[in-house]
Amino acid sequence: MSDCLFCAIAAGDISTDRLHEDEHVVAFRDINPQAPTHVLVIPREHVASAAELTSDHDALWAHMLHVAQQLARSEGIDSSGFRIVTNIGHDGGQTVNHLHLHLLGGRPMHWPPG
Ligand code: 5GP
Ligand code: ZN
Repeated sequence: MSDCLFCAIAAGDISTDRLHEDEHVVAFRDINPQAPTHVLVIPREHVASAAELTSDHDALWAHMLHVAQQLARSEGIDSSGFRIVTNIGHDGGQTVNHLHLHLLGGRPMHWPPG
């Protein structure tokens, strides 16, 4: 998708602070962090949201989770705990329509979210 911000980030057309990249996913710090650690994990493939995932994406989705888990370790928040979130659509609070996991940690999280 040529007009998608996260496709442009995945392609390297917009520079970001990349913490991980491989054939399938890219991870970088959120520009507006909501916690001491706030990292986004995105697929290189344009998928609009988790609501658009099909069984063809099973391996990709699992890989995104594993990358988030590894980043929690490298960020030093694995033992204190962390949150993995994906927002979907308007009421879900999604503002960028390219699938992403938020990895949040480094402070206690509240529940339920606002
Ligand atoms: P959403 O609200 O869709 O779940 O999350 C989108 C996230 O992308 C937000 O937390 C927002 O701060 C982040 N974001 C938006 N534009 C950029 C950008 O250009 N660079 C980075 N690193 N993060 C961005
Ligand atoms: Zn995209």
